[in-house]
Amino acid sequence: MRTGISVAEAREVVLAAAPVLGAETVSLRQALGRVLAEDVRSPRTLPPADCSAMDGYAVRRVDCLGAAPGTPIELAVAFEVAAGQAPAQEVGAGQAARIFTGAPLPGGADAVVRQEDTEAAAGRVLVRSEPRPRENVRDAGEDIRAGDLVLRAGDSVGPAAIGVLASLGRSLAAVHQRPRVAIVSGGDELVEPDGDVSGDRIVASNSYSLSAQCLEAGAEPVYLGIARDRPEDLERRLRAGLVADCLVTSAGVSVGDHDHVRPVLEKLGCRLEFWGVRMKPGYPLVFGRFDRDGGPLVFGLPGNPVSAMVTFEQFVRPVLRRMAGHRILFRPVVRARASEALKKSPGRAHFLRVFLERRGEELWATPTGSQSSGVLRSMTLAQGLLFFPAEAERLEAGAVASVQVIDPDFFARDSAGL
Ligand code: AMP
Ligand code: MG
Repeated sequence: MRTGISVAEAREVVLAAAPVLGAETVSLRQALGRVLAEDVRSPRTLPPADCSAMDGYAVRRVDCLGAAPGTPIELAVAFEVAAGQAPAQEVGAGQAARIFTGAPLPGGADAVVRQEDTEAAAGRVLVRSEPRPRENVRDAGEDIRAGDLVLRAGDSVGPAAIGVLASLGRSLAAVHQRPRVAIVSGGDELVEPDGDVSGDRIVASNSYSLSAQCLEAGAEPVYLGIARDRPEDLERRLRAGLVADCLVTSAGVSVGDHDHVRPVLEKLGCRLEFWGVRMKPGYPLVFGRFDRDGGPLVFGLPGNPVSAMVTFEQFVRPVLRRMAGHRILFRPVVRARASEALKKSPGRAHFLRVFLERRGEELWATPTGSQSSGVLRSMTLAQGLLFFPAEAERLEAGAVASVQVIDPDFFARDSAGL
């Protein structure tokens, strides 16, 4: 087991261990946010035939040359074609067909004159505008041609992809499975939020924040309750989590007499890959795996609420995204200037909770206040985590740093801005 490794090394180890999960077939209605596990080629051409983009008249352009408001051209309306109908005949010389949006263009016709540029009169129509070639005609295949590679394995399924799949005549899609994450809290002081919270008891809030982080990452959390600080109780709960894709514990990974996570994991056959990452918050993170097939990846997160969330963010989230098939694993990173000077001793990288503020074209980052790993409220205020590298000791006011944006709303705006 390695110990005291860097954030970058830890990230490399956990990602190297993360498998992309297999495929499952889901209804298109449940596919939002999933990742395609298949290349999708179109079996069809869309639109399948030339069709009208307007309500109006399908005409032969040669018959309408010179048509203008002062010099209308009169055509005989030979027949009508509506969306969903096959044209009954062709448009002959001196003829027009009444046509509606989405209806197939009849043979003979090569343009559609919009209704607004015509005047109808008992079986005849006056055309007041000369159409350009194929004006108001949607060509067959303008959207998709049969055989086109329309979507690729690894593409995220958003509303547009769902619409495209449906337009190809599909109601199902093959997507990567969502990782299942077993979550165990540990500690004698812990209670559930609706339990007896009197005295020195602490609500096991990590199970809530971590479950929410799983959901937000596209994974499925399964909560296995609070393990008391006894190896037998911890073992019983961890065993229940061995069927999951990831097993995430919080607390009990430090060096205290009541910290049983590491020995119990080893007893269960888990190979611990590292313990201790040179970061703050979050140093005592443990990562392990089972050599046998199908065993979960195990993250023993620190118990302090901010440490648990920040280590989840750095290591568990990208792993879950990889498992779910995503190509893009990480949060956006912006460059921002520190609004105050920051100091630390060398050795550990710091992830500082910061507000981000736009000043003209620049971003400025300001710490949210106390950076104690117990101040969970600061996470509700933080839009980003400012990365203060391990060996750096000072960041001057106005110096530029990298900030991982953890609040997706940061990129949203309070006005349309267009
Ligand atoms: P430990 O790792 O057991 O020393 O816990 C570190 C700190 O995190 C202690 O102050 C615990 O009370 C707190 N803590 C542990 N588990 C949780 C949890 N599930 N939710 C909130 N705080 C916790
Ligand atoms: Mg404890």
